[in-house]
Amino acid sequence: MLRDIDLNEISDGKLYENNDMVKADCGGCKGCCDCCRGMGSSIILDPLDVHRITCGLDRTFGELMDDAIELNVVDGIILPNLKMTDKKEACFFLNDDGRCNIHAHRPGICRLFPLGRFYENNSFKYFLQVHECPKKDRTKVKVRKWISTPDIKRYEKYVLDWHDYLGSLQEHIMSPGGEKDMKAVSMSLLRRFYQQPFNKTEDFYEQFYKRLNPYIF
Ligand code: SF4
Ligand code: SF4
Repeated sequence: MLRDIDLNEISDGKLYENNDMVKADCGGCKGCCDCCRGMGSSIILDPLDVHRITCGLDRTFGELMDDAIELNVVDGIILPNLKMTDKKEACFFLNDDGRCNIHAHRPGICRLFPLGRFYENNSFKYFLQVHECPKKDRTKVKVRKWISTPDIKRYEKYVLDWHDYLGSLQEHIMSPGGEKDMKAVSMSLLRRFYQQPFNKTEDFYEQFYKRLNPYIF
């Protein structure tokens, strides 16, 4: 989530759409895994991320909670994030060769990096983070190719709808008297979108929208 940050300080000053070319291609990140270490709780997982990982590894959300992910409060809502483990503060899925063990199932934030999303006017665009990735010789790549997610239009709509939904819940919790609902909102959210698995043989987005109901408590 990007707030109270001057975009000009952290980006190249441009906003990109999915068909634009952007200097983000790290050429396979050879020899580097900086964005898989020391990320704290910042790699927050959305329902599609968890769906991908649970299907790809054939593990339940509960099993992932044993080692790979953890829960943290984000603006009043409990959400899962990738866990950084051991002294090196490395992602659980980073292997000894410094490569991602779940590359095909990696979360949306990992697919984006070093891009970020800038939400404005009921929409979002992409921006290039200029201080985060140390690779100096990055080449241009189309944003949609870099993100490497099928059905980009549906994916972007889902990203926006999920972002707006969380925003409305967070707004409620932060409003006068809303704090009392904090636990119930989080428990319901976790149960409906994370713990209760999505059917891997059915369309994810159709299942997601069936569960997306503005009144969760
Ligand atoms: S910091 Fe940049 S080069 Fe290093 S792993 Fe991440 S995206 Fe690749
Ligand atoms: S899931 Fe893979 S790409 Fe993402 S932080 Fe972990 S090791 Fe890195």
